[in-house]
Amino acid sequence: MAVIINDTCITCDACLQQCPVNAIVDDMHNPLGHSRYYVQPEKCIECVGAFDDPQCAAICPSIGCITWDMPFTAQYDAHFLDSDTYALGTTKEGTPKSPTYREQKYREDIALSKRGVGHEVQEEPTQNEAG
Ligand code: SF4
Ligand code: SF4
Repeated sequence: MAVIINDTCITCDACLQQCPVNAIVDDMHNPLGHSRYYVQPEKCIECVGAFDDPQCAAICPSIGCITWDMPFTAQYDAHFLDSDTYALGTTKEGTPKSPTYREQKYREDIALSKRGVGHEVQEEPTQNEAG
Protein backbone atom coordinates (compact mmCIF):
# COMPACT_ATOMS: atom_id res chain seq x y z
CA MET A 1 0.00 0.00 0.00
CA ALA A 2 0.82 3.34 0.48
CA VAL A 3 -0.08 6.52 2.13
CA ILE A 4 -0.54 9.68 0.09
CA ILE A 5 0.24 13.33 0.81
CA ASN A 6 -2.34 15.91 -0.22
CA ASP A 7 -2.20 19.63 -0.97
CA THR A 8 -2.36 20.62 2.70
CA CYS A 9 1.35 19.77 2.97
CA ILE A 10 3.26 22.75 4.33
CA THR A 11 6.65 21.39 3.15
CA CYS A 12 7.97 21.32 6.71
CA ASP A 13 10.30 18.37 6.03
CA ALA A 14 9.33 16.51 9.21
CA CYS A 15 8.22 13.30 7.49
CA LEU A 16 11.19 12.80 5.22
CA GLN A 17 13.65 11.68 7.87
CA GLN A 18 11.11 9.41 9.55
CA CYS A 19 10.56 7.04 6.66
CA PRO A 20 12.37 3.73 7.21
CA VAL A 21 12.52 2.98 3.48
CA ASN A 22 13.19 6.46 2.05
CA ALA A 23 9.89 6.45 0.21
CA ILE A 24 9.28 10.20 0.57
CA VAL A 25 10.68 12.91 -1.69
CA ASP A 26 10.53 16.66 -1.08
CA ASP A 27 8.68 19.28 -3.07
CA MET A 28 11.74 20.04 -5.18
CA HIS A 29 11.78 16.42 -6.31
CA ASN A 30 8.04 15.85 -6.55
CA PRO A 31 7.79 13.84 -9.79
CA LEU A 32 4.41 15.37 -10.59
CA GLY A 33 5.70 18.92 -10.21
CA HIS A 34 3.39 19.66 -7.29
CA SER A 35 4.65 21.97 -4.55
CA ARG A 36 4.31 19.34 -1.84
CA TYR A 37 6.10 16.27 -0.59
CA TYR A 38 5.36 12.98 -2.36
CA VAL A 39 5.24 9.36 -1.21
CA GLN A 40 6.55 6.89 -3.76
CA PRO A 41 3.89 4.20 -3.39
CA GLU A 42 6.10 1.54 -4.94
CA LYS A 43 8.47 1.97 -1.98
CA CYS A 44 6.09 2.65 0.92
CA ILE A 45 5.56 -0.33 3.22
CA GLU A 46 3.12 1.46 5.57
CA CYS A 47 5.90 1.06 8.14
CA VAL A 48 5.05 -2.64 8.47
CA GLY A 49 7.77 -4.36 10.47
CA ALA A 50 9.39 -1.06 11.37
CA PHE A 51 6.88 0.88 13.48
CA ASP A 52 3.39 0.40 14.90
CA ASP A 53 1.96 3.16 12.69
CA PRO A 54 3.02 5.13 9.64
CA GLN A 55 5.70 7.39 11.07
CA CYS A 56 5.28 10.08 8.44
CA ALA A 57 1.68 10.62 9.53
CA ALA A 58 2.59 10.42 13.20
CA ILE A 59 4.94 13.37 12.91
CA CYS A 60 3.12 15.44 10.28
CA PRO A 61 1.87 18.71 11.82
CA SER A 62 -0.80 19.15 9.16
CA ILE A 63 -3.63 16.92 10.38
CA GLY A 64 -5.32 15.14 7.49
CA CYS A 65 -2.45 15.79 5.09
CA ILE A 66 -1.40 12.14 4.92
CA THR A 67 -4.18 9.67 4.18
CA TRP A 68 -4.42 5.94 3.58
CA ASP A 69 -4.18 4.85 -0.01
CA MET A 70 -5.04 1.45 -1.45
CA PRO A 71 -2.82 -1.58 -0.81
CA PHE A 72 0.04 -1.69 -3.29
CA THR A 73 -1.08 -5.07 -4.61
CA ALA A 74 -1.84 -6.39 -8.09
CA GLN A 75 -5.56 -5.89 -7.53
CA TYR A 76 -4.92 -2.14 -7.54
CA ASP A 77 -2.49 -2.03 -10.43
CA ALA A 78 -4.68 0.29 -12.51
CA HIS A 79 -5.16 2.59 -9.54
CA PHE A 80 -1.42 3.17 -9.20
CA LEU A 81 -0.87 3.50 -12.94
CA ASP A 82 -2.94 6.70 -12.95
CA SER A 83 -0.32 9.19 -14.07
CA ASP A 84 -2.32 12.18 -12.81
CA THR A 85 -1.73 11.02 -9.24
CA TYR A 86 1.42 8.90 -9.33
CA ALA A 87 4.73 8.82 -11.15
CA LEU A 88 6.00 5.30 -10.62
CA GLY A 89 9.65 4.50 -11.11
CA THR A 90 10.54 2.30 -14.05
CA THR A 91 12.92 -0.59 -14.64
CA LYS A 92 15.86 -0.23 -17.03
CA GLU A 93 13.61 -1.70 -19.69
CA GLY A 94 11.02 0.98 -19.01
CA THR A 95 8.51 -1.22 -17.21
CA PRO A 96 6.60 0.78 -14.58
CA LYS A 97 7.19 -0.51 -11.07
CA SER A 98 3.47 -0.98 -10.55
CA PRO A 99 2.12 -3.61 -8.16
CA THR A 100 2.22 -6.34 -10.81
CA TYR A 101 5.97 -5.72 -11.02
CA ARG A 102 6.41 -5.90 -7.25
CA GLU A 103 3.81 -5.77 -4.51
CA GLN A 104 4.50 -4.00 -1.22
CA LYS A 105 3.64 -4.74 2.37
CA TYR A 106 0.50 -3.11 3.72
CA ARG A 107 -1.48 -3.12 6.94
CA GLU A 108 -4.09 -5.82 6.60
CA ASP A 109 -5.84 -4.53 9.72
CA ILE A 110 -6.82 -1.34 7.88
CA ALA A 111 -10.07 -2.15 6.10
CA LEU A 112 -10.47 -1.17 2.47
CA SER A 113 -13.39 1.01 3.55
CA LYS A 114 -10.89 3.07 5.56
CA ARG A 115 -8.66 3.63 2.57
CA GLY A 116 -8.87 6.16 -0.19
CA VAL A 117 -9.34 9.88 -0.46
CA GLY A 118 -10.12 11.54 2.83
CA HIS A 119 -9.32 8.67 5.18
CA GLU A 120 -6.84 10.06 7.61
CA VAL A 121 -3.97 8.05 9.04
CA GLN A 122 -3.52 10.49 11.86
CA GLU A 123 -6.35 11.25 14.29
CA GLU A 124 -7.33 14.75 15.33
CA PRO A 125 -5.84 15.43 18.76
CA THR A 126 -8.34 15.24 21.61
CA GLN A 127 -9.22 18.47 23.37
CA ASN A 128 -6.94 17.61 26.26
CA GLU A 129 -3.98 16.96 24.00
CA ALA A 130 -4.70 20.10 22.05
CA GLY A 131 -4.38 21.86 25.36
S1 SF4 B 1 3.97 5.01 5.89
FE1 SF4 B 1 6.07 4.54 6.59
S2 SF4 B 1 7.01 3.59 4.79
FE2 SF4 B 1 5.23 4.70 4.04
S3 SF4 B 1 5.96 6.74 3.46
FE3 SF4 B 1 5.23 6.87 5.58
S4 SF4 B 1 7.04 6.56 6.83
FE4 SF4 B 1 7.52 5.79 4.75
S1 SF4 C 1 5.34 16.24 7.60
FE1 SF4 C 1 3.40 16.65 6.55
S2 SF4 C 1 3.39 18.88 6.14
FE2 SF4 C 1 5.51 18.28 6.64
S3 SF4 C 1 6.47 17.86 4.63
FE3 SF4 C 1 5.67 15.88 5.38
S4 SF4 C 1 3.60 15.72 4.52
FE4 SF4 C 1 4.24 17.86 4.30
